[in-house]
Amino acid sequence: MSKVLVIGCGGVAAVAIRKCCQVSEVFSELCIASRTQSKCDTLARALEGKTATKITTARVDADNVQEVIDLINNFKPDLVMNIALPYQDLTIMDACLACGVNYMDTANYEPEDTDDPEWRAIYEKRCKDAGFSAYFDYSWQWAYREKFEKAGLTALLGCGFDPGVTQAYCAYAKKHEFDTIETIDILDCNGGDHGYPFATNFNPEVNLREVSAPGSYWENGHWVEIPAMSIKREYNFDCVGNKDMYLLHHEEIESLAQNIPEVKRIRFFMTFGQSYLTHMKCLENVGMLSTTPIQFDGQAIVPIKFLKALLPDPASLGPRTHGKTNIGCIFTGKKDGKDKSYYIYNVCDHQECYREVESQAISYTTGVPAMCGALMLLTGQWSKPGVYTVEEFNPDPYLDALDKYGLPHREKQNPVLVD
Ligand code: NDP
Repeated sequence: MSKVLVIGCGGVAAVAIRKCCQVSEVFSELCIASRTQSKCDTLARALEGKTATKITTARVDADNVQEVIDLINNFKPDLVMNIALPYQDLTIMDACLACGVNYMDTANYEPEDTDDPEWRAIYEKRCKDAGFSAYFDYSWQWAYREKFEKAGLTALLGCGFDPGVTQAYCAYAKKHEFDTIETIDILDCNGGDHGYPFATNFNPEVNLREVSAPGSYWENGHWVEIPAMSIKREYNFDCVGNKDMYLLHHEEIESLAQNIPEVKRIRFFMTFGQSYLTHMKCLENVGMLSTTPIQFDGQAIVPIKFLKALLPDPASLGPRTHGKTNIGCIFTGKKDGKDKSYYIYNVCDHQECYREVESQAISYTTGVPAMCGALMLLTGQWSKPGVYTVEEFNPDPYLDALDKYGLPHREKQNPVLVD
């Protein structure tokens, strides 16, 4: 019996909320709070009479710590699920600390305004020191470790699929399949087709920032950075078929490199079709991916925000997306002195997701892991004071929950490796 405050009511949050409502014995009360309360009200109405979970809604601007504190003090939740945007991670963590509540999110902190001089100075130093130039990194949230430890609270970071389940797969491989892991390749394949020439599967701003950035991977104790989309491989994915995939920087590489220090190389690949890449390059070339405001007709406009307003809402792609996703990790390493390789992954069908929760598989594969992570925290299976990423917890009950609630894992010994 727990009270949970969910902040955000977009594509991912809607799935997480619907899944929480399937587990009313744990999620007995939910407050859905977001910037636009009408979206929360619409979802609450859609769930009326279909769940034993008691649902209330609220309006909150989560960029404002005091507003979040007031909301928490009013609702008194056991856990805050931050499923808004990465921009709100730190304000919501601050509010959780002020009120003595556990915290979780699905993506690590990045600032909305990358031109902010104070942030920029720290960022530029980090680029030099660490050797990768993504706008997001864990340092901001890891800086809260001591505060959460002292407060006896848990903060669970990045509990979607990737980051999230991919790290649970790493912890599982380390626990059950290997004595030492030498390489990890995380493969994220979306074989779905929504019929639009160009649309993003989750928040366009966050998504386009991520994929237009330089790629990087971890090798022999340091980052190797490469121009965006400059490493391409082809892979034959189970249930999907042959796809081109490209090496990207991805946040879980950073925590995995720390938490499984023996690993010599960690890479992340994501599949993209040619149409997506051509559109993205063109938008980038004309400046539409820029986060720096420009003056237009006497008004300041942020190009990427304007683009977001033009693109289809990811939450609306559900009914028209067909095909499957396949996301997982391939490992090489040693067990009992012998070389071995192992692949653990999930296959998810866009239309099956839509039938169950009225959403496409990208939101589903993020929302279900978020719900399962909340379940681990609320049932005491993952509670320890501090700030943690998923691979730092016991993967077994989490994988059991994912199996049960819609994202069962599949395994292959001796898979085809990525060169
Ligand atoms: P959406 O843009 O669909 O939804 C974001 C929600 O947050 C909206 O309801 C929005 O409100 C709300 N919001 C934005 N700013 C604020 C604010 N200041 N205060 C309160 N609410 C706010 O995003 P997604 O659902 O696609 O993504 C949600 C999160 O999931 C993101 O952090 C994303 O990076 C992450 N993600 C993680 C993945 C993983 O595998 N780990 C994969 C995919 C996404 P409004 O309606 O007013 O705009």
